[in-house]
Amino acid sequence: MIEIDGSEGEGGGQIVRSSLALAAVAGVPVRLINIRGGRKKPGLLRQHLAGVNAIARISNAGVEGANLGSQVLTITPGKLCGGGYAFEVGSAGSAILVAQTILPALLHADRESTVTIGGGTHAAWAPPFDFFAKCYLPLLAKMNGNVNVSIESHGFYPAGGGRIVMQVQPTSALRGLSLMDRQGELDPLVQALVARIPESVGKRECEVIRRKTAWNDDAFEVHPITKSGGPGNVVMIECGFDNVTELVIGFGKLGVKAEHVARSVLREARVYLASGVPVGPYLADQLLLPMGLAANSGHASEFRTTSLSKHSLTHIEVLRRFLEIDVAVSEGDDGSVTLRV
Ligand code: AMP
Repeated sequence: MIEIDGSEGEGGGQIVRSSLALAAVAGVPVRLINIRGGRKKPGLLRQHLAGVNAIARISNAGVEGANLGSQVLTITPGKLCGGGYAFEVGSAGSAILVAQTILPALLHADRESTVTIGGGTHAAWAPPFDFFAKCYLPLLAKMNGNVNVSIESHGFYPAGGGRIVMQVQPTSALRGLSLMDRQGELDPLVQALVARIPESVGKRECEVIRRKTAWNDDAFEVHPITKSGGPGNVVMIECGFDNVTELVIGFGKLGVKAEHVARSVLREARVYLASGVPVGPYLADQLLLPMGLAANSGHASEFRTTSLSKHSLTHIEVLRRFLEIDVAVSEGDDGSVTLRV
């Protein structure tokens, strides 16, 4: 049995999610202690518990300690079974993080799966649906991980109530991926989503970004969302290149001006664009898991990013505990970091 101390490094939910995913794929029992020990409110929150229960069902696992607030959990995974599943996170807890937790297990399951997950689709501190669909999954597809995802209902903070449907084809082994440079010209897309709030909010957000960039008018879209668990507004800037797409998101909030939200998301996009690297900090920590699994079956990967986040550094340590892999990190003269798995 592998024991993972959830207070180490970043000390958050990702150690829990990755350990669950890796335990299921490797078929090894894992005991997690000090779960989310680095957070103010430690232990399993609803979203993590939904991930635990989902992994337990898919891997026919025996579980101890799967309760809200639990700081110790033992899971003994069995056979990975594909098929039809429905999971509910409740509240605006991220449906996308649950999807990412179970994806590796479903990719290594005995048959195709169709999974419905209810929860937040555009929640803070989690990958938004659009990031998952347009940045993460296309790269996973290049690694031989074929997944389709659609959104049936948007789930914004705080109401949640979103719903996604994911179809997963099992794969014999994930392939490696190389993302050392951006290829082609920037193809920008700015999308403002507005649910149960005036469309003018989204138009104002787009207008701020349009005025501050030289991007074509057709790069700006305002989408009124008719199906959502509650009101919400986000503005997303998609930075598309031929081989990689990055997406930054700003969350509209009561009392915060639309112009302010737009300016701060543009600032974040500019930091990514100016860095010159293909892989931003969020994508970096999320690519590590599929790349680790590919490397474990003999397929090396590499990517170039900005300095590694605490999430990424912690993730590397978790991967090393479960997989027979080498991870090498080197810094370039331009301050970028190259990671080879
Ligand atoms: P944790 O804080 O441990 O629960 O992990 C949060 C996860 O969400 C990490 O994998 C982050 O990369 C990811 N994440 C957080 N914010 C964003 C964002 N704005 N875009 C994409 N991914 C995000």
